[in-house]
Amino acid sequence: MSAAMIDQAADASVSIKKSEKIAYENNKLHKRLCRLVGQAIGDFNMIEEGDKVMVCLSGGKDSYALLDILLTLRERAPIHFDIIAVNLDQKQPNFPEHVLPAYLTKLGVPFHIENQDTYSIVKRVIPEGKTTCSLCSRLRRGILYRVADELGATKIALGHHRDDILETFFLNMFFGGKLKGMPAKLQSDDGKHIVIRPLAYVKEEDTTRYAAVKQFPIIPCDLCGSQENLQRKQIKGMLREWDKKHPGRVDNAFAALSTVVPSHLMDSGLFNFADLAVDGVANPNGDIAFDEDPCSTPSVMPGIISLREAD
Ligand code: SF4
Repeated sequence: MSAAMIDQAADASVSIKKSEKIAYENNKLHKRLCRLVGQAIGDFNMIEEGDKVMVCLSGGKDSYALLDILLTLRERAPIHFDIIAVNLDQKQPNFPEHVLPAYLTKLGVPFHIENQDTYSIVKRVIPEGKTTCSLCSRLRRGILYRVADELGATKIALGHHRDDILETFFLNMFFGGKLKGMPAKLQSDDGKHIVIRPLAYVKEEDTTRYAAVKQFPIIPCDLCGSQENLQRKQIKGMLREWDKKHPGRVDNAFAALSTVVPSHLMDSGLFNFADLAVDGVANPNGDIAFDEDPCSTPSVMPGIISLREAD
């Protein structure tokens, strides 16, 4: 065998190994998404026997990922539930209206496209240069609730992920003075629907990668010409920076959302401070007011051995 042929064979073997590695990583990603979505569905009892789940499909990476993973999980689920994909065509300029019907038809998923020109309403009502998102999303919400009624959907599934939830939490804290995030499951504000966010445990970087792997036909989200919310952009940047410089911090912040201690916050509506009285019963997990600042204890960060443990 000539030297050139040996080189060619070596190249071929390297490229086979590389594609095997990529396939392995992609499979791992798919499994992780299924596991996290399944876990969120279970933890919050999001989907029950006989449900008709209306999956809101915007054409963005997250909603495609949501639909894709729900379809996989439905095949494996011990219960029966139906899925219907819904897209609201808001008549934004250059919206490629053929993309979603073509994708969903190919997939064999029942779907409904709701045509409502909210774009013109928003443009007419909001003065030039002002943010249009709040009116636009209010209109969209109302329309989607009506469509859910008409379709007989029992659950409305949205594609918000872990990073959306954290961003909303910090936005509310920094700019709204509230400890309030984005719930994984909630009753709609008209009191008639249950809204679920099955991607609640999924990181945005995973939906981004998954969308690339699956080559979803993404529809750009800036067709309306609206500027991105600057405060959200700021929070996004902050979280990205934390993740880079302080591995584990964002994970801990997310974990904190489900580990709330009302007696150690200051909301009298959540904890009855007024009637607090001694009951003579010791609580080993109770007050640590005289201990060191818990934030300075290294054991709160996973993967780092606590000084106390090391002693
Ligand atoms: S970015 Fe555009 S389409 Fe999206 S909520 Fe804002 S105004 Fe509406």
